[in-house]
Amino acid sequence: MAATPPSTGARRWHELADHVLDGGALGADDALAVLGSSDAELMEVIAAASRVRFHHFGNTVKVNYLVNLKSGLCPEDCFYCSQRLGSDAGILRYTWLDTDEAVTAARAGIDAGASRVCLVASGTGPSNREVGRVSEIISSIKSATPGVEVCACLGALSGGQAEKLCASGADAYNHNLNTAESHYPEICTTHTYADREHTVSQAHGAGLSACSGFIAGMGETHEQLVELAMALRDKDVDSIPVNFLLPFDGTPLAGVDTLNPRDCLRILAMVRLVNPDTEVRVAAGRERHLGHLQGTALYVANSLFLGDYLTSEGQPGGEDLQMIADAGLEILQRPQDERADGAERPDEPAAQEAKVAIRTRGAGTSEPANA
Ligand code: SF4
Repeated sequence: MAATPPSTGARRWHELADHVLDGGALGADDALAVLGSSDAELMEVIAAASRVRFHHFGNTVKVNYLVNLKSGLCPEDCFYCSQRLGSDAGILRYTWLDTDEAVTAARAGIDAGASRVCLVASGTGPSNREVGRVSEIISSIKSATPGVEVCACLGALSGGQAEKLCASGADAYNHNLNTAESHYPEICTTHTYADREHTVSQAHGAGLSACSGFIAGMGETHEQLVELAMALRDKDVDSIPVNFLLPFDGTPLAGVDTLNPRDCLRILAMVRLVNPDTEVRVAAGRERHLGHLQGTALYVANSLFLGDYLTSEGQPGGEDLQMIADAGLEILQRPQDERADGAERPDEPAAQEAKVAIRTRGAGTSEPANA
């Protein structure tokens, strides 16, 4: 008897979603098909991935806020990174924020509605003294706002450090795999993919929620993106930040600009279908690479970073919140609204009332037209 031919058109993508919603795992061929789908099929691919996203996360968007505790001056050579050894990128460079500075920085994101604060420091990995410093910051944030999750991202951990962070109240540890194992030597020479995997396992093993993602657009193939999405599934990570390469001047990947907004949506859809109930966060590069399709990404991803990134600026935080509201989505509420310091929790951020900008250029004026 002849084999049943694969479904075509919109039906194919919805059958993949049905399979995943029934508890099946997306296979590599189907994941590759998502990445290779045509622009004409894109909205059907998004619709299928969106069914999975809404099934697991409803209409909520988790808002995360980055605080860069230590910027630049890293001895590692990750080719994409503006903080790498020898980077000429004109970024801010500073050593550790003190506890008050870090808590104040975190507070800006918390007051805007973030339910997770991500405390990040550049470097190979922290010393025990530095872990102590970060633990103090974590304890301060948690005691003032216990409902806020805190994720630490400090590089490779050594013995006992994950446990110490956990004991201070950290909820999660981020360590990105960054790219597929088979592509890792093309993006870094000072450490390996196996080193990365080790830290992810170490943090997870200590009881911290595992946050690990990647950067797309670094010359990897579709097969390597699928390899990566499946590796993250195998590691059972809880959240996956999907970054799109920001090709900083002064780094080896300066000028590498291979993504378009539809590619970015296909990548997010593939990651969603491979990791159906995992938090998928649309991360750095969102504004640059998704452009006018940023809001559409939220029908597949269920999480974003508010405002600025580690060394680059994002769009204004108010625009991020407005984008969520425009998509008909809601900010995920923190589990505990009471603040331990007794202060009132701020009102939910309201969508900003936009004033109509009066035209003062072009016809009828002596100013150049907006064209
Ligand atoms: S990604 Fe992290 S480890 Fe690599 S150069 Fe940048 S700060 Fe250093």
